[in-house]
Amino acid sequence: MSMHHGAFCVFCDNPRTIHADKRQWLIHLAGHREKIIAHIVDNYEKCPLGAYPRLIPSKTEYAGHLKWSHTKKELFLWAYQNLIEGQISVLP
Ligand SMILES: [Zn+2]
Ligand SMILES: [Zn+2]
Repeated sequence: MSMHHGAFCVFCDNPRTIHADKRQWLIHLAGHREKIIAHIVDNYEKCPLGAYPRLIPSKTEYAGHLKWSHTKKELFLWAYQNLIEGQISVLP
């Protein structure tokens, strides 16, 4: 039996518990790039990636910023650390 704790992927159309390690999660999240960007634009007033939160009033520019000013790796790592990892650590 797997020792990995499961977590929900909020970006899947039919959310289900996924049992995966960090590396596998990052690969999974890579399939949701557009949804992750939309999620950040909708839920974070300032860009949460990078050292200093950056306010970008235009949603279109904000999405472009997430796409071009940050690497894909940064984006997927952020999604893992903020949306997935917390679920894993609170599960018994
Ligand atoms: Zn997913
Ligand atoms: Zn940024």
